[in-house]
Amino acid sequence: MVGMTEATDQAHILDGKALSEKIKQEIAAEVSDWVSQGNRAPHLAAVLVGQDGASRTYVDHKVKSCARVGFQSTLIEKPDDITQEELIAIVHGLNEDPGIDGFIVQLPLPAHIDDQAIIEAVAPHKDVDGFHPSNMGNLALGLPGFIPATPAGIMTLLERHGIETAGRHAVVIGRSSIVGTPMSLLLSRSGNPGNCTVTLCHSRTRDLAAHCREADILVAAVGIPGMVKADMVKEGAVVIDVGITRVEDASAKRGFRLKGDVDTASVAPKCSWITPVPGGVGPMTIVSLLRNTLVAARRSAGAH
Ligand code: NAD
Repeated sequence: MVGMTEATDQAHILDGKALSEKIKQEIAAEVSDWVSQGNRAPHLAAVLVGQDGASRTYVDHKVKSCARVGFQSTLIEKPDDITQEELIAIVHGLNEDPGIDGFIVQLPLPAHIDDQAIIEAVAPHKDVDGFHPSNMGNLALGLPGFIPATPAGIMTLLERHGIETAGRHAVVIGRSSIVGTPMSLLLSRSGNPGNCTVTLCHSRTRDLAAHCREADILVAAVGIPGMVKADMVKEGAVVIDVGITRVEDASAKRGFRLKGDVDTASVAPKCSWITPVPGGVGPMTIVSLLRNTLVAARRSAGAH
């Protein structure tokens, strides 16, 4: 269990930044062992299409993190007028490249490209984002496979802080295939963390606040800044804020700041644990991607 940081009188911070640094050191040590046994360093490729500022920031963080843990990385940048066929050809090339263990195509893609067609073109054994239907199916069935990085990171955050989940009621807000849906599957499946009774809420849920108030563990993955207010949270709940929205702020150096889905100022005093934004779920997402890539490298070398 990692150390607690005081957020308020009641809540403790689930410090994803500190934990991710620790896990990066653990991965770096494993990579060093792996390479000293005569294997090549794990190799992650990232494909970035267009000029979206947030996507570039995420990809830059992923590539920088590769260097931190001793991975090789390759960044493939393409303009936003790339055709779907050209992008699929790049994906096929990466699928067949024996020097690449895993790769991601950063989403969202430009509107003329069908995200799902790209996801399905990725070979499942190199799909370190865990978005391919085969990996999602394995997750639903409780079989081994790559788990999407954001929910996997949240599970690690709960596990490493020794947060008890068995038998507790978890409410997940948001049903996207990359966060909300896999999160609900992970929390409900048999395991530790896991064994929760899960309610999955979404844009058509009636009386969202009433559902949220029943949550021992509340995960907000919506993308509406500050939507979870204190009157939606049970006293003592564990609150996981996945949302990251850029909100204009002339006083900030970059002209914006990042806001989560939770109104932290009002919610933190009520809960037992809370993730900050930034520095909570985001850094944990990156370490889960690194972990998946190390697993992919071991598997491609015939190890486990
Ligand atoms: P998405 O837009 O695909 O899904 C949003 C979900 O919220 C939908 O399922 C929708 O039904 C639900 N929703 C919308 N309005 C609602 C409402 N009023 N009440 C209840 N539910 C509502 O988004 P996503 O890709 O799942 O991402 C969600 C947020 O998490 C975004 O802010 C995104 O930037 C962030 N995110 C963060 C990380 C990270 O690493 N920290 C990773 C992925 C996504």
